[in-house]
Amino acid sequence: MAKFPSKPTTGQPRRITALAQVVQAGRLTQNMIRVTLSAPEFAGLPATCAGGHCKIMLPAAGQSIDAFRTQLADGPKPVTRTYTIRNARPETREIDIDFVAHGDDGPASAWAARARAGDVIGFAGPGAPKLTEFDADFYLFAADMSAIPVVAAGLEALPRDATGMAIFEITSAGDRQQIDAPPGVTQHWLIHDDPHRASCEQVRIVEALRWPEGRVRTLIAGETGVVRSLRLLLRGDRGLDRRDVYASGYWRIGLAEDEHQKVKRAEAEADEARLSQVNGG
Ligand SMILES: Cc1cc2nc3c(=O)[nH]c(=O)nc-3n(C[C@H](O)[C@H](O)[C@H](O)COP(=O)(O)OP(=O)(O)OC[C@H]3O[C@@H](n4cnc5c(N)ncnc54)[C@H](O)[C@@H]3O)c2cc1C
Repeated sequence: MAKFPSKPTTGQPRRITALAQVVQAGRLTQNMIRVTLSAPEFAGLPATCAGGHCKIMLPAAGQSIDAFRTQLADGPKPVTRTYTIRNARPETREIDIDFVAHGDDGPASAWAARARAGDVIGFAGPGAPKLTEFDADFYLFAADMSAIPVVAAGLEALPRDATGMAIFEITSAGDRQQIDAPPGVTQHWLIHDDPHRASCEQVRIVEALRWPEGRVRTLIAGETGVVRSLRLLLRGDRGLDRRDVYASGYWRIGLAEDEHQKVKRAEAEADEARLSQVNGG
């Protein structure tokens, strides 16, 4: 497995690579599949890595475990996608990943829908959790289905006396989850039944928010068009500092992940250039 991407980055948890085996897979909610994975290497994961991202590498249909192991070690690079570690249990060498079931047009979604105990995938991670500083007066969270795992992990990590607001945009009423958020964080669950149609609801709610006093930190992720509008609103109109805003596009209507990542990088650079002109910096 030497060719897994495993470059260590300062301040990041130690990255591990593994051939992981499915322990169980099934519907968590109507349009979300939870896959529990196990690998001996997961014993080395920090218990606090929930909310960090990871790369998963998918075997081709019908590929044997031995052939996939060889491919991971020697190439070519398998189909690779980015997901969030929802829960980590190093003591039992397990993690959970929650996959949006958005159909067979995406290899990861299709894989999760068919995953059975004993199946394997490649794993590389974890990335750092997205919310690690708990010094804010108010926390603003926003997520579509793809970002429920990262936002739920962020909410669970908050101090119990934290205050804020969390917006979740889900595909159906059956996608609502119980999240152990501090009581001072209000939760809004919106239903947007066609994720392939752009939504303005999250932006509308944030625009209408009576702006809180003090330091505001954000953890926002989901469809890139929505996230981009939120980032421009928060960094531009609301004047939040770049370091206090995590707002990341996790997927884009009509684009597979590799293509989306290219476009996202170019757009983020253009947005920052525009914001530094507007903010005079
Ligand atoms: C840091 C990070 C963490 C992420 N964590 C998670 C996570 O925990 N759970 C999760 O489900 N996703 C997560 N995502 C998003 C996930 O990487 C993308 O949704 C990815 O495109 C899924 O791959 P795929 O093979 O299913 O579809 P792709 O082959 O990438 O795309 C195929 C088609 O499916 C559409 N599509 C992709 N994602 C969705 C979606 N969510 N809803 C509707 N249509 C979609 C695309 O627009 C495209 O038309 C994360 C992304 C990032 C960057």
